[in-house]
Amino acid sequence: QAAMVDENDAQAKALGYVADAAKADKTKYKQFAAGQHCGNCALYQGGAAPAGKCALFPGKEVANKGWCSAYAKKA
Ligand code: SF4
Repeated sequence: QAAMVDENDAQAKALGYVADAAKADKTKYKQFAAGQHCGNCALYQGGAAPAGKCALFPGKEVANKGWCSAYAKKA
């Protein structure tokens, strides 16, 4: 299993990634809406697992309950 993305990584900071969607910066990211989290984002590859890969964070895993500003609702 790959290491988890650290919120302090450069890429995480650039995208506003947080391991807990509830902690997303709602002032900076007005597009955030309740219910959005990695687990229902089109880019999440972990299925129902608590952590999984995301194309935007190669070599690491994001939290199912996480969120970032590139969130795109899964179809
Ligand atoms: Fe999570 Fe989607 Fe952002 Fe990847 S793109 S970190 S799966 S919200």
